[in-house]
Amino acid sequence: MGTVAAYGLRKAFGEVQALDDVTLEVPDGSFFVVLGPSGAGKTTTLRAIAGLEKLDAGSVHLDGRDATGDTPAARDLAMVFQSYALYPRKTVFENIASPLRARSASADEIAAAVKEVSGLLHIERLLKRKPGQLSGGEMQRVALARALVRNPRAFLMDEPLTNLDLKLRVEMRTELTRIHRSLGGTFVYVTNDQVEALSMADQVAVLREGTVQQVGTPTEVYDRPANQWVAAFVGSPRISLLACHAQGDRLVGAEGWTLPRPRWTTAEDGRPLLLGVRAEDLSVESRGDAALPGELYGLEPLGDRTVVDVKVGKEMLKVKARPTVTGTPGQRMSVTVDLDRAHLFDADTGLTLS
Ligand code: ATP
Repeated sequence: MGTVAAYGLRKAFGEVQALDDVTLEVPDGSFFVVLGPSGAGKTTTLRAIAGLEKLDAGSVHLDGRDATGDTPAARDLAMVFQSYALYPRKTVFENIASPLRARSASADEIAAAVKEVSGLLHIERLLKRKPGQLSGGEMQRVALARALVRNPRAFLMDEPLTNLDLKLRVEMRTELTRIHRSLGGTFVYVTNDQVEALSMADQVAVLREGTVQQVGTPTEVYDRPANQWVAAFVGSPRISLLACHAQGDRLVGAEGWTLPRPRWTTAEDGRPLLLGVRAEDLSVESRGDAALPGELYGLEPLGDRTVVDVKVGKEMLKVKARPTVTGTPGQRMSVTVDLDRAHLFDADTGLTLS
């Protein structure tokens, strides 16, 4: 297994700058997730690493060696696409076996390897079928099995769980992290699903419009987002953002409220800021003086919790509350802020301030 690195990748498709100086270093044996919204450049990054995309600039290094000029085959990477690219006339067994046949493995070796990997992915009972007789989710697992049966330098996976229903998708997240641990391989995994990224990754690279916004562990990206955009993209419900500025020992909101100035901030007085607070760091139970005056807008019961939408002036806060919370829209409701866990962003640049 090995390290995968991309330095200064640039790629334009006509007017669209799909990659604008993307640099990523994937440590050997890690589960590295590239996370970003649709169109961020995730697939293009993966294809560039695989050698399937001609770059305008930049280089790809595998195991520390410049592999930019290498053919896809010479790179020895296994790629799992969103579309499964299975052979329609071959059985599932033969589809999974095909990379091993290409290397002239013995029949015993092939049988053992297919058995092992189909067990890992719970598809043993499908081995005699053809792709046309499989559901989308089953095809996706066969495509994964075909990649995993090899022992490549690294696995590149492009949203391999998109076609699974929610239950199977959640199960497969756990399965894939388990498979990763047992194989000990290097995984580069692309997704637009932040829950998937946070639950599976050792390291996450957050991509937006062809640029890397932040690279870090899931905890770092969630708790210490580099900027307002990352803070809003990662986390559900979305982080609440309130326009304000510091004034002496207070934070003064554009909507007229004031809060104690967080002890940790060095922002100078008067500078336009955004206070960012996650739903779990807001409460509709009144505690202490860090409270914002608002009015109940709506309740979203989610079983184990309820998300309460509270309007503070024109701004909307999302508050995680107990499932027993009640209220009528329009009623007054104050929201307590855990300022030790809040974030401040420069309102002009969006960058996180400490
Ligand atoms: P998704 O999550 O929707 O798959 P992505 O993050 O993988 O998105 P890319 O597929 O890498 O994004 O695309 C990045 C940008 O480049 C997009 O604006 C896309 O429309 C454009 N793009 C990608 N491939 C091509 C192509 N072959 N021709 C023209 N434009 C392209």
